[in-house]
Amino acid sequence: MRILVAEDDEHVADALADALRQHGHTVMWKADGGEAVRAAEETDFVLLDLGLPDLDGYEVCRRIRATSTIPIIALTARSEEIDRVMLLQAGADDYVVKPYGFRELLARIEAVMRRATRAVTAVAAPPRKDPPLEIGALSIEVRVRRAFMAGRQLSLTAKEFDLLVLLAAERGAVITRENIIERVWDENWFGSTRTLDVHVGTLRIKLGDKRWIETVRGVGFRLADPRG
Ligand code: CA
Repeated sequence: MRILVAEDDEHVADALADALRQHGHTVMWKADGGEAVRAAEETDFVLLDLGLPDLDGYEVCRRIRATSTIPIIALTARSEEIDRVMLLQAGADDYVVKPYGFRELLARIEAVMRRATRAVTAVAAPPRKDPPLEIGALSIEVRVRRAFMAGRQLSLTAKEFDLLVLLAAERGAVITRENIIERVWDENWFGSTRTLDVHVGTLRIKLGDKRWIETVRGVGFRLADPRG
């Protein structure tokens, strides 16, 4: 894989690049955000230090994400305050806090790649005649990962789609927050339950009626047709 290491600390970048090369990857190193944004087009994966000298890491993330679906893992110093939700919204797929073990980082890279590949495979798969999941005006073609509201295709992120499918598959039932986090996010995205709330919020907006997803306080969420 061609991996872009965006890191201004030369020692850190060197050590990381060496370790990645030993695992058979080609490494491109950039020490500032502007160059990293340009270089991202020519690589398959981005490891992004959030503390770059020229541009805010979140901004680098957003600029890369504006034109590309390339996987991004943010690397952040423990001393820096991480806003997980902001990072997620900026488009990072995961993050790792420094100092991290290289094996941990590799495992994260592999997990993110698996998810990315799964998403691509799902999109590329030829449509089969599986009946769509239908709830009122909502129609979901699970295998090809498309959802429609009254015939209009919804533009959903991968997580929003997974969340919608999970809720739709058990329509009417309350799915607990823990269950959703476990099934939609893997344990690697440790944590913030605000992440879930953010996704429920954006999904409600995209569904066009916030009553589609009912909040069951202290428990979880339930999907129901607002007209049903
Ligand atoms: Ca730095």
